[in-house]
Amino acid sequence: MSKEENLECSFCGRKKSETNLLIAGIDAHICDKCIEQANGILDEEVAETKVGGLSKDVMLKKPKEIKAFLDQYIIGQSETKISMSVAVYNHYKRLLQKMDEEDDVEIEKSNIILVGETGTGKTLIARTIAKMLNVPFSIVDATVLTQAGYVGEDVESILSRLLQAADYDVEKAERGIVFIDEIDKIARKGDNPSITRDVSGEGVQQALLKLLEGSVVNVAPKGGRKHPDQKFIEVNTKNILFIAGGAFSGIDRIISKRLNMQAVGYSASVAEDKIDEENLLQYIIPSDLKAFGLIPEIIGRLPVLSYMNPLDAETLRAILTVPKNSIIKQYTKLFGMDDISFTIADEALDYIVGKAVEYKLGARGLRSLCEAIFTDAMFELPSSDDKEFTVTKEYAENKLTKTALKKMSVAS
Ligand code: ADP
Repeated sequence: MSKEENLECSFCGRKKSETNLLIAGIDAHICDKCIEQANGILDEEVAETKVGGLSKDVMLKKPKEIKAFLDQYIIGQSETKISMSVAVYNHYKRLLQKMDEEDDVEIEKSNIILVGETGTGKTLIARTIAKMLNVPFSIVDATVLTQAGYVGEDVESILSRLLQAADYDVEKAERGIVFIDEIDKIARKGDNPSITRDVSGEGVQQALLKLLEGSVVNVAPKGGRKHPDQKFIEVNTKNILFIAGGAFSGIDRIISKRLNMQAVGYSASVAEDKIDEENLLQYIIPSDLKAFGLIPEIIGRLPVLSYMNPLDAETLRAILTVPKNSIIKQYTKLFGMDDISFTIADEALDYIVGKAVEYKLGARGLRSLCEAIFTDAMFELPSSDDKEFTVTKEYAENKLTKTALKKMSVAS
């Protein structure tokens, strides 16, 4: 017998001739059957460490740890970080609950609604949570949604995007996070919606309801309009976490009016606790959203309500340098890849923040300002022998021409 035929599987002892495939290791062999069996064991082990598709490591994160994770990326906004951490923690518990024996108590979904000016970090918080959980994440703009049958996108298109983000793995998509931006733009317009058809307002809110509360939805895989001969994918939204965000501009007047009425009505507590007129959003309650034009059913399905603080100069300054992937850290890395050591003076940072405040560019403007200041250097330095790049306030002033600033304020 040749040496080759003497070979056998080191795990089950089958002779090479009895196997379809025998793979050689350093000192051993394994046959196709043993590989299959080992694979099955592996799958079982992995499944045991996951609940509702999430790894147990993630599930074990307590609200304080979730907040600590958010703190690495998001400056300030502490109240919202706390509400979000609790909401996400309860979301895990809800997923866990399915595994236990049924009792009569069912934990409901903790979908979230964030109210705050644009550029204050609403999307960033939602995205960071998705990153922590390692789940698919998609952003949809509520302004493009219309009631079924009208020009625009059906609400189901929200799930097409999520499916795309999950590489069409339905199970993965079903535990993803969807951020619905500009939810305030689908507020009911006027008090009597029946006079004119409110196809982009209340109609859309009604259509969103079933998605938010959890139902099986037929989704056209490519997004966009439904088409009779397009194949649908069924997606259950029961475990999808929805986070809605909006600027709700003018809602401060609604809050102020309510607070003043309360102060007159009860004269006691509210009037005594001095109201911070500069930041009325912190007093927001669900009925303010109703007064703004969201229908009560939608508000009920977004039970966690939180607000974003406006960004002051101090916060903007921190956003530039503190977060784990802050703008300045990103430029340092970019220059570093060309072996250029990059430093920026404190006065230059203050100057950038000053311009962002002066031109009302917010946090998003910080990046455009940096681009305008650093582009020349990013163009020149990689082909030069200069290995150091120091940005002083004068350098920044020089690069930031009035025209560049004007362009930015027009664009924002
Ligand atoms: P919104 O969704 O509220 O309009 P974004 O989350 O899109 O705002 O924020 C825009 C950008 O501004 C983010 O990508 C981020 O770089 C920066 N930013 C805003 N707020 C913060 C914050 N609190 N901490 C860190 N970065 C922030």
